[in-house]
Amino acid sequence: MPIISILNPKGGSGKTTITTNLARSLHERGHKVLIVDSDPQGSARDWHAANEENPLPLVALDRANNVKSLPNVAAAYDFVMVDGAAKLEDMIAASIKITDFVFIPVTPSPYDLWAASDLVEFIKARQEVTDGKPAARFIISRAIAGTRLGDEIVTALAEQGLGVFTTHITQRQVYPQTASEGGTVFDSKNADALAEVNALTDEILAFID
Ligand code: ADP
Ligand code: MG
Repeated sequence: MPIISILNPKGGSGKTTITTNLARSLHERGHKVLIVDSDPQGSARDWHAANEENPLPLVALDRANNVKSLPNVAAAYDFVMVDGAAKLEDMIAASIKITDFVFIPVTPSPYDLWAASDLVEFIKARQEVTDGKPAARFIISRAIAGTRLGDEIVTALAEQGLGVFTTHITQRQVYPQTASEGGTVFDSKNADALAEVNALTDEILAFID
């Protein structure tokens, strides 16, 4: 039932990678999941089309007006995962209005965090008129394996005033490799990647509970 939107107007932050891997992770746990591609660029659509045996249903809703109908569709699923658009303000605004949770992938760079400020301000303004909906958190994406977040990142994150999940998605070849076949890390045997996607799924499920 919950609608989860993975949003960040910046391209390359890992929205599609995180949407597809989290959706598959929830599917592996027996949940009925729908992926919504809200990006006119259609990366999630291309990903889906690359694998005839993809176990997940996907719909494309890349006009703000279409997005408004999502809450009706969501009733038939355990989770709806919206893969966010880049640089399309009306799409992002429409997604924020219908979503229960927003997760914002950011690479561990202060520039990327600052670039997310407008989105964070928009979410906070929405929360004020809705009693806190959508709840929002950052996901550190494309982190370098084995390194801790620098102090400047921790400070930049704190300045944004939203929480951040403890689990990071690391920069790993297995993400683009599996995506190119329309898959996810669940189609690989990469134990480290599987462990981080599963740990992030655990954290998200605990957060939205
Ligand atoms: P967005 O949807 O925000 O534009 P993508 O998920 O499409 O971002 O990622 C942009 C590019 O970076 C893609 O080529 C993708 O395969 C690659 N990428 C994303 N996340 C990772 C990661 N954790 N490790 C390696 N490559 C990644
Ligand atoms: Mg994308």
